[in-house]
Amino acid sequence: MGRAFVYVILGGGVAAGYAALEFSRRGISRGELCIISEEPVAPYERPALSKGFLLPEAPARLPSFHTCVGANEERLTPKWYKEHGIELVLGTRVKSADVKRKTLLTATGETISYKILIIATGARALKLEEFGVNGLDAENICYLRDLADATRLVGVMQSCAEKNAVVIGGGYIGMECAASLVINKINVTMVFPEAHCMARLFTPKISSYYEDFYKSKGVKFIKGTVLSSFENDSSGKVSIVPLHNATFLEGIIACVNSRLETGGEM
Ligand SMILES: Cc1cc2nc3c(=O)[nH]c(=O)nc-3n(C[C@H](O)[C@H](O)[C@H](O)COP(=O)(O)OP(=O)(O)OC[C@H]3O[C@@H](n4cnc5c(N)ncnc54)[C@H](O)[C@@H]3O)c2cc1C
Repeated sequence: MGRAFVYVILGGGVAAGYAALEFSRRGISRGELCIISEEPVAPYERPALSKGFLLPEAPARLPSFHTCVGANEERLTPKWYKEHGIELVLGTRVKSADVKRKTLLTATGETISYKILIIATGARALKLEEFGVNGLDAENICYLRDLADATRLVGVMQSCAEKNAVVIGGGYIGMECAASLVINKINVTMVFPEAHCMARLFTPKISSYYEDFYKSKGVKFIKGTVLSSFENDSSGKVSIVPLHNATFLEGIIACVNSRLETGGEM
C-alpha cells in the first residue's frame, strides 16, 4: 500500500493552489493534504505564460508567479507547502481512480489513498492532429498551455532565423501570443476561421479597434479560414502553412494557441 492522506487534490493548477491556501487558513494537520500534479512544478498562475513569461527583457520566471500572487497573498512556493505540511506529489500522472476503495493509481504504479478527493484537473490544449491536420511533428510548432510549452516557445523565438510566425487562433491567448511575438521582433500573421478576433467576446466594432491597433504594429490578419496541413523542410521545421483558402504562408514558427481546449482527463 502506498501513501495515505485525508484530502487529495488531483491536479496542480491554480484551483489546487488556492484550495491549498483555504485549507491552511481553516487549519489542517501536517500530512493531511496532498496535491498530485502531472506538472513538475508547484501550482502557478497560468496567465503569466502568455504575458510576462514571453517578454524579451526581464521575463517573469518562477517563483514570481506561483499561485496566490493575484490575491495579494504570500506566494505559494514549494517552501510554503513544506512549511504548511502539505505534500506535493509532482511530475506524477494519475491513471485511474477507484472511488469505491478511495484510491488513485499513478502512472508509476503507486496507489495513493484518500478520504476526500478534490478533482481539479482543469483543461488541456487540443492538438491539431485531433482535427486530422498533418505534419505536426515539427520542432517549431508550439502550443501554449503549460510551463513546458511556454519555455519551448521562448526557445523557438530565440533560435528562429526566419522571424516570421503564424498564430493560429484569434482568441485571448492568440492575441496575447501575437503581441508577445511582435515585442520579440517577429513578424506575425494571425489565422482564424471567424470574421473577427475575439469573436466569442467582442462585438465587431470592438474587434476592429483591436485589429487596427495590431495592424499598426505590423500584424497581418487572415480571417475566415483555417490551415489544412503543415509542410516541413528538410531540417524537420515547418516552412509552409497551406490554408483552406489556397493561401500559403512561408518561413515560419507556427504558434497554436490553447483556446482549443478540452477538460483534463485521466
Ligand atoms: C497561456 C494562458 C493564458 C491565460 N490567461 C488567462 C487570463 O489572463 N485570465 C484568466 O482568467 N484566465 C486565463 N487563462 C485560463 C486560466 O489559466 C485557467 O482558467 C486556469 O488555469 C484553470 O485552472 P485549473 O486549476 O482549474 O486547471 P489547470 O490550470 O488546467 O490545471 C490542471 C492541472 O491538473 C493537472 N492534471 C490534469 N490531469 C491530471 C492527471 N490525470 N494526473 C495528474 N495531474 C493532472 C495538469 O497537469 C494541471 O497541472 C489562461 C490560460 C492559458 C493557458
